[in-house]
Amino acid sequence: MSENKDQKFVYDFTEGNRDLKDLLGGKGANLAEMTNLGLPVPPGFTITTEACKVYLESGTAPAELREEVSAHLAALEAKMGKKLGQSDDPLLVSVRSGAKFSMPGMMDTVLNIGLSDDSVKGLAAQAGNERFAWDSYRRLIQMFGKTVLDVDGELFEEALDEAKAAKKVTVDTDLDAADLKKLVTRFKKIVAKQAGRDFPQDAREQLDLAVEAVFNSWNTDRAKLYRRQERIPSDLGTAVNVCSMVFGNLGPDSGTGVAFTRDPASGHAGVYGDYLQNAQGEDVVAGIRNTVPLADLETIDKASYDQLMTTMTTLENHYKDLCDIEFTIERGQLWMLQTRVGKRTAGAAFRIATQLVDQGLITEAEALQRVTGHQLAQLMFPRFDEDAKTALLGRGIAASPGAAVGKAVFDSYTAVKWSRSGEKVILIRRETNPDDLDGMIASEGILTSRGGKTSHAAVVARGMGKTCVCGAEELDVDTKRRRMTVGETVIEEGDVVSIDGSTGKVYLGEVPVVPSPVVEYFEGRMHAGADDADELVAAVHRIMAYADRVRRLRVRANADNAEDALRARRFGAQGIGLCRTEHMFLGERRELVERLILADTDEEREAALSALLPLQKKDFVELFEAMDGLPVTVRLLDPPLHEFLPDITELSVRVALAESRKDANENDLRLLQAVHKLHEQNPMLGLRGVRLGLVIPGLFKMQVRAIAEAAAERKNAKGDPRAEIMVPLVGTVQELEIVRDEAVQVIAEVEAATGTNLKLSIGTMIELPRAALTAAQIAEAAQFFSFGTNDLTQTVWGFSRDDVEASFFTAYLEKGIFGVSPFETIDKDGVGSLVRHAVKQGRATRPDLKLGVCGEHGGDPESVHFFHEVGLDYVSCSPFRIPVARLEAGRAAAEAKGSDSR
Ligand code: PEP
Ligand code: MG
Repeated sequence: MSENKDQKFVYDFTEGNRDLKDLLGGKGANLAEMTNLGLPVPPGFTITTEACKVYLESGTAPAELREEVSAHLAALEAKMGKKLGQSDDPLLVSVRSGAKFSMPGMMDTVLNIGLSDDSVKGLAAQAGNERFAWDSYRRLIQMFGKTVLDVDGELFEEALDEAKAAKKVTVDTDLDAADLKKLVTRFKKIVAKQAGRDFPQDAREQLDLAVEAVFNSWNTDRAKLYRRQERIPSDLGTAVNVCSMVFGNLGPDSGTGVAFTRDPASGHAGVYGDYLQNAQGEDVVAGIRNTVPLADLETIDKASYDQLMTTMTTLENHYKDLCDIEFTIERGQLWMLQTRVGKRTAGAAFRIATQLVDQGLITEAEALQRVTGHQLAQLMFPRFDEDAKTALLGRGIAASPGAAVGKAVFDSYTAVKWSRSGEKVILIRRETNPDDLDGMIASEGILTSRGGKTSHAAVVARGMGKTCVCGAEELDVDTKRRRMTVGETVIEEGDVVSIDGSTGKVYLGEVPVVPSPVVEYFEGRMHAGADDADELVAAVHRIMAYADRVRRLRVRANADNAEDALRARRFGAQGIGLCRTEHMFLGERRELVERLILADTDEEREAALSALLPLQKKDFVELFEAMDGLPVTVRLLDPPLHEFLPDITELSVRVALAESRKDANENDLRLLQAVHKLHEQNPMLGLRGVRLGLVIPGLFKMQVRAIAEAAAERKNAKGDPRAEIMVPLVGTVQELEIVRDEAVQVIAEVEAATGTNLKLSIGTMIELPRAALTAAQIAEAAQFFSFGTNDLTQTVWGFSRDDVEASFFTAYLEKGIFGVSPFETIDKDGVGSLVRHAVKQGRATRPDLKLGVCGEHGGDPESVHFFHEVGLDYVSCSPFRIPVARLEAGRAAAEAKGSDSR
């Protein structure tokens, strides 16, 4: 905290280490770590994120900072034997931002601080190279002008281009000392005119202003946007690294490069990186001149190359992971400028984790921390055939993964119309809004030319699990004329396009899609043990085995039919956590449900229920057979009855037309009456769940009988059915008691009639705040709880789950009210605290209470960790997400063990 008197705002590189990322930022912490490893890091110091926070809060740097910087600068000058900006032999420093989390390209850097009209001559004399000194000076003015004094960078670039054009050369290395000297004069004029002040000649003033500029760069619009998209908290601030300059632009024996300790795409060992002779770091990033492959450095400078290779091995063994590196060679001397654990593709993450286990560098538990459920999910999407010939149209933001192919349509209405007639379509819009929802649902994928990862299209598509590429700015979308133009190419409505939501690429025509090998493996169609097994599949197989070995949470599936149940089993499900029976009341059976709703007498109702019973029983027999030996939680009917009846408008029109023709249908009239009677303003808060069971006599009893009879049939066929009966939307224990007592009676009757002992358990969903709050009482009547976090989120927040994601969530995400929809990742503080409470209270009443979750959160990586932590017994999710849940359950257990033993 800033009020702490002993607080230190500046750390020498020799004082820090890699665990101090919060304070020193990632770059500073790693520079310190490399310094302590004895690697060649140019000396320097780091100004902490705390200093940045004080600056951002108060508008001025903390008072102590100036003195601390002076002390560290003096020590640096002593070490280097020269002073910052000294006229005859200047010490020069770089000033670089470095936050806790990498924010590539978001914040600022100023190199060559310490140069002035005076010291540039000293540098030239010392280096014996006039061209180099003037090149360094023009770079300083350019970077300082742009970053610190807010001068439009284009103006410098234009001046540089003009200088090259005047000399009829194309690369900046062809400009000589005299050209660069002239350019410096021109740059200084640009600064004076644009910034209204001269370029500062005082080295310390340059340093202090550059540090402030880095602090300020934390809050540029692009940095803010990036943080929101990447879910990086906005109050972390950035550290500032002040490092003595080394020069890659001193001639052909100097240069700069980037390297990876292994291939970030495949994980294979080897030499991966780029090198640029006679250049400073930003030349590589800016792509001004073409780099050469790192392997060529061996012929350019063998000694430095060998030293770099040894250093990379040291770093990999030390960090026990793939590292990426920035280095500079100054006249044959290698300097390390940065290292960090490198980014990698999802596939490489799995491969590298197992490779490192094989090398004995990490344990299996550590390997689990090197991969994520999100990466596994990415690997499970079908993808475009890599060998296919493609015509790339452009590239946008990879907003929601998957590979989608379809005919281009430019409005929602057409998307719906064409998809109804069996066409596959891609909805292309400039940006989407809630009116596009139907079209988005009807499409294979969504493509927009505007908006980022939190745009409406991106948020909604991710929520639907639909492929989406957004913000593809090269595409000129003209919705009025129903076409888009990319350069010379015009794509008309109906032309086929392919979009890749994992890479953001957009192609013209149909790119063939291949199933993911990882899914083929989970499906049992590809074997990890085979000699020629896909390397990725083998790695996934091993990591899944580690996860299964350590996880405490069991993983069940939300599945309503035998087909889904079987797939879930193949994917590793250990039972069904939610069978939603409402799906069994649709299709041809809808008519029976209508009869039930319209019944005026007990006889009519009984007749409708008796007709439904055998159908329900058959469903359950199939399900219990598919999940033989594993628990199957069957939820009694939940949704409001009107969902089973015809649409009120359609029916009203039908009846009105019939009446005008004087041939009104008696059944339609009764139906219309019922629809009116059942119409609710807020059906999600109305007559549904247990409330239905209590007001429609016989409905739940029929379902319980179907479950019990199905279980008995399976038992008598020597099966091992393990049914659990679940009551939805309970708010008070009294509701549950009534349903339970009826169920117990029905089960006893079936047991007696079939000579079986069914051991059916009866429990409830916890999906209303009142249920969670009174969990101690509810547990008296329930053998298990399953948290329905969809409804619980809806009712805790007062958010209509069917409406809000498409209406105002984009605005909420943009405003940073939450980083992710609470329907996607559990809201730990609100909904989560009710879950925690209910777990504790429920177990206090009934220590062997079984606890699970069956809301969508059961398959969400972050939420799985939460459910592990609060002590649930299992999570239940859609079959496709089971591997992700298994992996995350393993990661949560391994992480918890790791932190226990620390
Ligand atoms: C829930 O509410 O979390 C749940 C699983 O039930 P449904 O989504 O069917 O309402
Ligand atoms: Mg629910």
